Amino acid sequence: MSDPIQQRVEQVRERIAAAAQRAGRSPAAITLVAVTKTHPAEAVAAALATGVADMGENRVQEASEKIAQLASQRGAIRWHLIGHLQRNKARQAAELFDLVHSLDSLRLAEALSRNVSAQRVLDVLLQVNVSGEASKEGFGLPGGVENRAALPALLADVERIVALPGLRVRGLMTVAPWGSDPEQARPTFRALRLLRDELSRRFPQADWSQLSMGMSDDFAVAIEEGATIVRVGRALFGQRDQTMGR
Ligand SMILES: *Cc1c(COP(=O)(O)O)cnc(C)c1O
Repeated sequence: MSDPIQQRVEQVRERIAAAAQRAGRSPAAITLVAVTKTHPAEAVAAALATGVADMGENRVQEASEKIAQLASQRGAIRWHLIGHLQRNKARQAAELFDLVHSLDSLRLAEALSRNVSAQRVLDVLLQVNVSGEASKEGFGLPGGVENRAALPALLADVERIVALPGLRVRGLMTVAPWGSDPEQARPTFRALRLLRDELSRRFPQADWSQLSMGMSDDFAVAIEEGATIVRVGRALFGQRDQTMGR
């Protein structure tokens, strides 16, 4: 028998492929990010051994410890920051991560831009709260592009963000409301895709190709709605200790 992480990776990859097929998309167009928050460096190494190269962490401090422990594998792993980032950690984050999914304000974008070292470009996704859930981080745009009252403020911020040196916008990220039925997340994912389409029309100078959406319970629905990056924790590593990380 192969080890449990390998089995789970295979199962998740099969479900990714099936969802992609249903949507007429290539499974190769979807990146699986293994969300390793709360799990030790050994879990990261186990995922890497199965061929998963993208790891997601939600805290800078925790990530920096694992990245240091896995320094010999640094070139083989792409590290993704998926949790809220405080501006005073912008410099550290700009050094550690390959893609920041959680860019959620103009001020944070400016702080990251100032802190990216000269020879680097930091890839970022704009996190948008399209569901309107109060507990969710991100630029607030409940309802997505239909929200004509809130759209101008977002567009003004995006115009400045896409012009910042050192940052390269790659697309959008969202977190769907928690619910027992993955279908409940579909309108949120669809709203993010429609917003992406609108932003790519308005700001064609930036790359809007990436849609980071979908977690353990709803990644298949997210793929049907256009996700290019899914962030999967529990389906790969099992339940997390509730006292650490959500
Ligand atoms: C923890 C987390 C995930 C992974 O969630 P699972 O339900 O374990 O798959 C994905 N995205 C974000 C932003 C997270 O914080």
